[in-house]
Amino acid sequence: MPHPIIGVPTSTALEPWYSPSFTLPSSYLHAIEAAGAVPLLIQPTTSTETLAALYSRCDRLLLAGGEDVHPSAYGAAPHPKLELTNPQRDTAELWLARRALADGMPILGICRGMQLLNVALGGTLYQDLADERPGPIAHTFGDTRRDFRALSHSITLEPDSWLAETLGIGELAVNSLHHQAIRDLAPGLRVVAHAPDGVIEAVEGTGAGFVVAVQSHPELIWQDTDPRWARLFHAFVQKSVKWKVKSKE
Ligand code: MN
Repeated sequence: MPHPIIGVPTSTALEPWYSPSFTLPSSYLHAIEAAGAVPLLIQPTTSTETLAALYSRCDRLLLAGGEDVHPSAYGAAPHPKLELTNPQRDTAELWLARRALADGMPILGICRGMQLLNVALGGTLYQDLADERPGPIAHTFGDTRRDFRALSHSITLEPDSWLAETLGIGELAVNSLHHQAIRDLAPGLRVVAHAPDGVIEAVEGTGAGFVVAVQSHPELIWQDTDPRWARLFHAFVQKSVKWKVKSKE
């Protein structure tokens, strides 16, 4: 069987003396390549013709981490602590996500990717979690802790979720590198994991298509810190994925 092609929208890095570069941390690509897929990087272009042409080559869509989603995408005014945004990337990813959702193409979202997915379906975000929803858990790293693989808080998985079934566990520790999070959950998504402070840490689609998204960064820890996460990438990539094994859908 040929390797499935996974579309992965990229970010933009501004170059002071040259044209902008399109970039993506290699950890996302390594994780899906190791699971048997071929990544297809998709630039955040404003051309829907280009997006449509690239999308038509894809078997799956991976929405990766990155900049803050601009609040104009969900009708909110910018919070003073909104960080770097990339409206062009927002537009491209929202187009790709909605197209994939409509087509039933499998989608995996990670960090910003989970937030983007929620926005694509009509949900909203906390723009700065610490300010808008203060709590005992630091979901983002301070300057003193820079190892992004370090596990920093636990999450509790819904026992009847696909993710709990796949990881084979109901509670586990995750890394946490986000200052934004889902505020109002969009229709079509179901919360399948919370942090102890109630912050949403994973969602699944309620429809027929494979839609899974996590707030943590399994692409950084599946090789060593917690190999159970390799199952997520494997399941996403392999066509034999058993979706909704125990779902009540
Ligand atoms: Mn977190």
